[in-house]
Amino acid sequence: MLQTQSETRRTIGSYWEASIPQPRADRQLIGNALFDVAVIGGGYAGLSAALKLAEAGVSVCVLEAEHVGYGASGRNGGFCCMGGTKLDEHQLLRKFGLEEARRFVAYQVAGVNLVAQRLDSWGVDAGRHSKGEIYLAHRPKDAVGLRSEVAFLKETFGIRARFLAKDELEGEGYGGPNFHGGLHVPYGFALNPMIYVQALADQVRKSGGKIFGKSPVTSLNRDGDRWRLETEHGFVRARKVVLAGNGYAREDVPKWLHGRTLPVMSSIQVTRPLSDGELSAQGWRSETMAADTRTLLHYFRLLPDGRFLFGTRGGLFENSAALTSMQNRARSDFEAMFPAWAHVEADFNWYGHICLARRLTPFVGEVPGAAGLYAAMGWHGSGIAMASISGEKVAGLIMGKLRPEDLPAPLLRPFSRFPLPALRKLYLQGAYWWYGLKDR
Ligand SMILES: Cc1cc2nc3c(=O)[nH]c(=O)nc-3n(C[C@H](O)[C@H](O)[C@H](O)COP(=O)(O)OP(=O)(O)OC[C@H]3O[C@@H](n4cnc5c(N)ncnc54)[C@H](O)[C@@H]3O)c2cc1C
Repeated sequence: MLQTQSETRRTIGSYWEASIPQPRADRQLIGNALFDVAVIGGGYAGLSAALKLAEAGVSVCVLEAEHVGYGASGRNGGFCCMGGTKLDEHQLLRKFGLEEARRFVAYQVAGVNLVAQRLDSWGVDAGRHSKGEIYLAHRPKDAVGLRSEVAFLKETFGIRARFLAKDELEGEGYGGPNFHGGLHVPYGFALNPMIYVQALADQVRKSGGKIFGKSPVTSLNRDGDRWRLETEHGFVRARKVVLAGNGYAREDVPKWLHGRTLPVMSSIQVTRPLSDGELSAQGWRSETMAADTRTLLHYFRLLPDGRFLFGTRGGLFENSAALTSMQNRARSDFEAMFPAWAHVEADFNWYGHICLARRLTPFVGEVPGAAGLYAAMGWHGSGIAMASISGEKVAGLIMGKLRPEDLPAPLLRPFSRFPLPALRKLYLQGAYWWYGLKDR
């Protein structure tokens, strides 16, 4: 018997929440239910998997701990761009060889195109802007590196990137005292991530997929020929399961996950709308998505309503002292990079979890030794495109329409366990300290 109950929404104070009307709430799972496939997590990955399955007539439910887009999919910077791994193109080439590195880069581009095609075909206005993205050198030596990438990217991957010298930046609207050159990559666009994730959930519902909100899965175990997913007020039995909790996944659901991922924080501030005079004073007029060349990168863009979004990576702990210190650091970085806006207050401040893996690549596939249990996780902070396409691909694997070898090799490595998992955050803290020194 299946009953449902309405939810109370848990908000985080983001600009995206404020920018759209309150979306519809999905009801909680109360009682028990049988599905062919159960998906854990209502973000881009889980919903994309559910959509593909529902469209193919598979009975599928999404179990979401809070509400659609509560995780990173409703809180990110809205850079729909290439990425999904912490390995750069040179490292991909060394580790996987030319053919697989090319397939993986093409997959990233396909992810970006998929999101654009979806929004077009659904007729959804997600506030898209920006043609491609620009990486800005924060040191003169990084500008030299960016310049040399142009030939490498073209010859190796067919990517037509463009280098901008320091003296060309301000003319193109990228004003800032600490930018020493830029590399424009022609793929990607910016969007309102909350509009996209809500639209994705609407498509799942329209296609016959069921979404349960306020239904955290507390355990996942084998039960005869099915998997049993326990929630607070009920359970689901399903032949196949997709793990799509990413940086919000519980380490014990299932036990296999324990010690295999590392959630870290990324934080965002959004200023009040800037006046024309303030934009001119800084020399920043471009609507192109931008990031700097630091390992602990900053990402930023001018929003369509004239506000400026500024994001940072690097927080590890979620207690209030650590969060305040992360926000203070972000603010002082913002003021150093955009000194003409040091007086401009931020109307919104929030943060969320991204998911790292030990080998710095995502995993899309069946969990070893657990027939019917699949994962699509580990996007390393760039998941709008990567989680969207990978959700579709994991659905293809589940339905037998794809074989693992149809996916690029970097996606196929199951997460390995971090050594001494309990100390993961501490040694990452050491790495952050080292990156901070390297980035100077
Ligand atoms: C501040 C920030 C900025 C970012 N900026 C960008 C950007 O500009 N561009 C980009 O490409 N990427 C960005 N990212 C990363 C991107 O948002 C994520 O990679 C992507 O949203 C991940 O989607 P997902 O579906 O895998 O996971 P999520 O969207 O995190 O969804 C996982 C969901 O699973 C649910 N869940 C977890 N465990 C359970 C359980 N046991 N039971 C039920 N539900 C569960 C959670 O509640 C959550 O809603 C950013 C991330 C953050 C935090």
